[in-house]
Amino acid sequence: MKTVAAFTLGFGAGMVCLAVVLWNTGSIVTHAQVVRTVPETIQFKQLPLPSAPAPAPAPAPAPPARDRASLGMPIAGVNPSTLKSNFSEARGGHTHEALDIMAPRGTPVLAVAEGNVVKLFTSKQGGLTVYQFDNSATWCYYYAHLDRYAPALKEGTLLRKGDVLGYVGSTGDASPHAPHLHFAVFQLGPEKHWWQGTAIDPLPLLR
Ligand SMILES: [Zn+2]
Repeated sequence: MKTVAAFTLGFGAGMVCLAVVLWNTGSIVTHAQVVRTVPETIQFKQLPLPSAPAPAPAPAPAPPARDRASLGMPIAGVNPSTLKSNFSEARGGHTHEALDIMAPRGTPVLAVAEGNVVKLFTSKQGGLTVYQFDNSATWCYYYAHLDRYAPALKEGTLLRKGDVLGYVGSTGDASPHAPHLHFAVFQLGPEKHWWQGTAIDPLPLLR
């Protein structure tokens, strides 16, 4: 009898200890939570599909580059509708890939967008030129045949849209009797080289 009594006492104490441990570790609480979440899950899955609202049509993707649609005119007062694209014209064995805008010598040339002057370069064909990147370095704007640069223009100068960067001329291979701005837009490659890019017709970007 003594043995049975001791066993019963020990078993009872053990059960009390187990209950206390379970309560303190939260096992009992966790169990209650699991039981409670199951009906919610089932209820959610039972929502009738036909009454669910049809997904809204995806909005049209944003234009790939803001700057493409918002270029300013590089020559003040020129109505773009009076310009004719000469992007695809053949010029001495190569495609022109730019827009010529005729203007009197000395007419101010304006930055078409905000961005830094990356290179001031003189070449046989382009004469006095400016290479400007847009702020995202996606596009390079090229202004050629300039008569001279704006005072204090340097590589690294941040131009705002509409800032004067130079003046129309006929440097390079332009006829001295037909001063004009040769304006080009290049999409830059991952290397961001001012001398490398894919030319696109500037005229639609000015309209
Ligand atoms: Zn040209």
